[in-house]
Amino acid sequence: MPFADIAGHERIVEVFRRSVRSGKVSHSYIFEGIPGCGRRKTALALIQAIFCRAVDDDACGVCPSCRKITGGNHGDIHFVEPLPDKRDISIDQLRDIQRELSLRPYEAPRKACILEPAERMSVNAANSLLKTLEEPPGNAIIILLTENADMLLPTIRSRCQLIRFSPLSPENIRLLLVKNGMTADAAGLLAPLSAGSMHRACELDNDTLSARREALVTHLSALDIGRIRTIFDSAEELAGNRDEALESLDQLLSFARDAVYLHAGCSDIVNTTIRPALESFAARCTLAGALQILGDITETRRAVQRNANNKLALDCLFMKLAEAIA
Ligand SMILES: [Zn+2]
Repeated sequence: MPFADIAGHERIVEVFRRSVRSGKVSHSYIFEGIPGCGRRKTALALIQAIFCRAVDDDACGVCPSCRKITGGNHGDIHFVEPLPDKRDISIDQLRDIQRELSLRPYEAPRKACILEPAERMSVNAANSLLKTLEEPPGNAIIILLTENADMLLPTIRSRCQLIRFSPLSPENIRLLLVKNGMTADAAGLLAPLSAGSMHRACELDNDTLSARREALVTHLSALDIGRIRTIFDSAEELAGNRDEALESLDQLLSFARDAVYLHAGCSDIVNTTIRPALESFAARCTLAGALQILGDITETRRAVQRNANNKLALDCLFMKLAEAIA
């Protein structure tokens, strides 16, 4: 895909454009970031731009080389990942790829290799890669994808250029989901809960989240510090098991963030489908109150993650929420 199709990593893309244009692309990179944030897509876009002869700092997207890469069948790009029944990338796999990279490219100016997840190389495999990273055979480009570069051997890190990818913004995720054919409503619901990862966004269950969002909105609007039942009922219904409680808290966190935005006069919120409910929620508390709620939800989330009793944690949180909007 051309660089223009990479969402949310404009600064990184700009650096790569310049490197490709000036012919100064490194031999070896580490792309660090959470799965689903666009590391692999960017790696392929970079390789496509290097291979494409039609444009000097990008991929044209239509030449035979570009089309083969898009179709996943370019003979000069190699992928290394753990074999289906194995946890780690083995030294044998590394030896095979080193042999492959030392051969002449079929059609591209150089060969390329994407290795993922790099932190799953055995120590022997990683050590065998050192020489290749230092002097890549045939000018090959090697891109290691990892969640955490600190988990790689220092000797590997020092031989590669480290590129850090941030999680995608909810807005980027929303646009990508819509582009992939999701309805605007579903994308608006999932995007704030995806933690910046398209993988996570695609794993979330839209119907369940949609039902929970309705329940949250109903309970929030009924919360009344003078009627204790409204507090306990909310916690009772939304606590569920640990994962469900965390999903409820993630949604609440996203609502609270929007309430703070609305208070600050910024109408650019992520939960656009429930805007009226959020506006009336924001109107019921002060800006300081909304910020306090944000902190309370974050603290509750942490407690539930540390195995606190879900129901008690949510009782306590809804009590604080009811006070803030009294
Ligand atoms: Zn091309």
